[in-house]
Amino acid sequence: MLNEREARKQIVEIGKRLYDKGLISATDGNLSIKLGNRIITTPSGVSKGFIDESDLVIVDENGSKITGRGKPSTELQMHLTAYRNRPDIKAVVHAHPPKCLAFIIAGESLSQCVIPEVIVSIGAIPTANYATPSTEDLAKSIIEPIKKSDVIMLDRHGSLTVGDDIFSAYYKLEKMEHAAEVMLYAKLLGNVRTLSKSEVDKLMVLREGTYGLKGNVLRCDDEIFSDKSCSISNSPNSVTVNNPSIDLVKVITQKVLERLNQV
Ligand SMILES: [Zn+2]
Repeated sequence: MLNEREARKQIVEIGKRLYDKGLISATDGNLSIKLGNRIITTPSGVSKGFIDESDLVIVDENGSKITGRGKPSTELQMHLTAYRNRPDIKAVVHAHPPKCLAFIIAGESLSQCVIPEVIVSIGAIPTANYATPSTEDLAKSIIEPIKKSDVIMLDRHGSLTVGDDIFSAYYKLEKMEHAAEVMLYAKLLGNVRTLSKSEVDKLMVLREGTYGLKGNVLRCDDEIFSDKSCSISNSPNSVTVNNPSIDLVKVITQKVLERLNQV
């Protein structure tokens, strides 16, 4: 079992990675590991890219400080809510991944059935309802989504990923940000092709059988998350196979050719 010294080292290491990869900026984000009935977490107001093992704070399951120099983050309540609702998890990572966040701010879905690896490993990425950061409402907003998924987006705020260790929570975040980057390029190129329901069925069988992956995932075509507010297919700004601008180019080209033939 993980000891406190090792847990401190892991939090410092992941903090550096989050900062170096641009998944947090300045003093954003917070991390925690649950050790029995105590939680080791990052202090507020300092960059998680430059923390030392001795900077970390230890709290009890209600968030009351046991030891540490700094103050726990005001967003710690979100971590405590995640641990209360998911007894199977041991670590929580909250970050502000820019590409995922851009999709959410643009009202675009991160839950399309596009990349098989993502469908299998993290599944659809639900978005918790908007809540003012650092308030009790923020912690409440994650209760339902965190029961169903290890990866969630907080509306216009950031991400929350959980796992049975901090590396697994971190890798899920890396994967969702990478998927958002791929989707962004695909959209810029003008076409997002999705997998059929039968192909998704096969992937879900693989997840449970061959891969035997742990954690909670939502199906990418789950009804719950195909609401209008964040579905690419329903978005007026979406670029799909039937790209209207491509159709327009065709019409204009046709007209020009007709005119040339008349000359
Ligand atoms: Zn935040």
